[in-house]
Amino acid sequence: MNNNEILQEPIWNNKHFLFNGKTIYFKNWIKNIKYVKDLFNDSGFKTIDEISKEICKKANVLCEYKIVKSAFKYIREKIHGYESKFINIKDKRYFNFTNKYCTVEKQKRKFFYEILLSKLFISPKHHNLYHKEYNVSKEMWKHIYQQKIKLALDRIIAEFNYKLMHNLLSCKKYMFKWKKESSDKCSLCLETEDMRHLIYECKNVSLVWNMVSLACKVNIQWKSIVIGFYFECNQSTRLLNNFISFIALKIYKYKMFCRLSNLEETEYSISNHVKKCTVLWCKVIKYSNYALKTNAIEHFIKLL
Ligand SMILES: [Zn+2]
Repeated sequence: MNNNEILQEPIWNNKHFLFNGKTIYFKNWIKNIKYVKDLFNDSGFKTIDEISKEICKKANVLCEYKIVKSAFKYIREKIHGYESKFINIKDKRYFNFTNKYCTVEKQKRKFFYEILLSKLFISPKHHNLYHKEYNVSKEMWKHIYQQKIKLALDRIIAEFNYKLMHNLLSCKKYMFKWKKESSDKCSLCLETEDMRHLIYECKNVSLVWNMVSLACKVNIQWKSIVIGFYFECNQSTRLLNNFISFIALKIYKYKMFCRLSNLEETEYSISNHVKKCTVLWCKVIKYSNYALKTNAIEHFIKLL
């Protein structure tokens, strides 16, 4: 940027002017001081007394002035004060919206709606991952979302499914990466605890999943938990998908609860918790208007 361009730049929240690696913003300055040119006069960078006359609240002026001065450390030396007089700020500012530069003035709602749509249809990166791993084609996603989100029996299951599908849930692998845990290993199996391990492969949940497989007469795999059964859409697939998601949700919630309350999680305590929740859930489904057959769930309760 040349001096002319620098002087036309907005000061606040501008990534070019940083203090301790962060952008700066002082609400009380913004009325009269918006652009870099406003910080200069004929004799150069304005003094603290000159700035104080232009800002609304002066209580922290010394501290704020030092921060701004520091953010403009290198620019102050480069710019000659008199240049600021000749700067005319263009009223219209152009922004890059979905690869075209335009102003927001006089734009109708269609303009903003199209930006929103273009963002919505960027497919999540996990679609590619499932495509590689399980050969899930693009066309299949609408069936998967139909089964896992739209036909979910309650909002909590739908939310959980969405987070599970896009790897947004908490596990030691990520907590360790974010330096919130001292290890990424499962304390029971001593294997790296990712979502798959936490919900499906951990030693203390294998009993629950074996019983689900037995009761539903289907071999439940990790794929069935994450993206469900989506080739057919009928009442039995709806129940099966919801049942699997419900069990995964309860395992996840219980493990997180134990972690936060410093309780020991055992195979027995997890199975017992899942069983108790399932008994209640089964009753809710039975007496609701879903018209779903709960035989498999009742069988599961007996087995566990
Ligand atoms: Zn484990």
